[in-house]
Amino acid sequence: MSDFLPYAYLNGQFVPFSEAKISVATHALHYGTAALGGLRGLPNPANANEILLFRLEDHCQRLSRSAHYLGYELSMAQIKTTIIEWVQKNRPTVPFYIRPLVYTSGLGIAPRLHDVEKDFLIYGMPLGDYLSAEGVTCRISSWQRQCDRSFPLRGKLTTSYIVSALAKTEAVASGFDEAILLNTQGKVCEASGMNLFLVRDGQLITPSVDQDILEGITRRSVVELAQAAGVTVLERAVDRTELLIADEVFLTGTAARIVPVRRIETYTLPAQRPLTRQLQQQLQTIVTGRDPNYRHWLDIVPIA
Ligand code: PMP
Repeated sequence: MSDFLPYAYLNGQFVPFSEAKISVATHALHYGTAALGGLRGLPNPANANEILLFRLEDHCQRLSRSAHYLGYELSMAQIKTTIIEWVQKNRPTVPFYIRPLVYTSGLGIAPRLHDVEKDFLIYGMPLGDYLSAEGVTCRISSWQRQCDRSFPLRGKLTTSYIVSALAKTEAVASGFDEAILLNTQGKVCEASGMNLFLVRDGQLITPSVDQDILEGITRRSVVELAQAAGVTVLERAVDRTELLIADEVFLTGTAARIVPVRRIETYTLPAQRPLTRQLQQQLQTIVTGRDPNYRHWLDIVPIA
């Protein structure tokens, strides 16, 4: 099982990954009553006995709130402590990805959130940095992002990923790398698993939190970095046609961090992307612990 880190956390215990098994009757598997997290860590390049975790408390807070939608009270502090213990148990030696999941773990049928057991599990895998220097091509998806009236979109509920999966597969099947989803109002929302930014006339623009987006942690980090650099950041509704005349478009998410967009449908974006490049470089410096001004975004976990 070399594709995964050696220990998982399941039913309140650390167990070898290969023994972390759940039943075919697990409620969440049938009804999508689960919520996930996803965060990155890496050995400190300056000290191999330390692991750097990017914005750990923000990730734990979002997962705690996602669990709340499921009627499962799991505090930010409980999640944080368990993730730190999990890291210390696994002692990763390469950059990695942590996948915590809260889910209805009881066995049996009937979709509901009451009278069903819940659990919190964690596993992880090595995940190197991949910076797509050339950028990705995107199509505007025929699938719409769900709307807040029918779905708790501020949580990372697993069920929402059916739309991400449909959109991503449609994009790849039609010759693009990635999908851009509109919301039910026809405004730009996000990509299949990343938030979206565009640059117009030196201003950075991103769909606001009332546009049915996931409140991405990388998104918030990019907004803060741009503002600190004196760039005007507008969080507002974005029209599809604005994308086609943008100076720069990029996507943000934990796994890929900042990914430039090279082409949208048949519209090729400019090859020069000064703000995207600046933010990419700055974020990379921060996550590797080399920017003292942003040390507070990192949790340092000793593993010696
Ligand atoms: N939107 C969706 C649907 C996602 O799954 C993700 C990845 N978690 C994001 C946006 C980006 O969020 P973050 O920067 O917190 O990873």
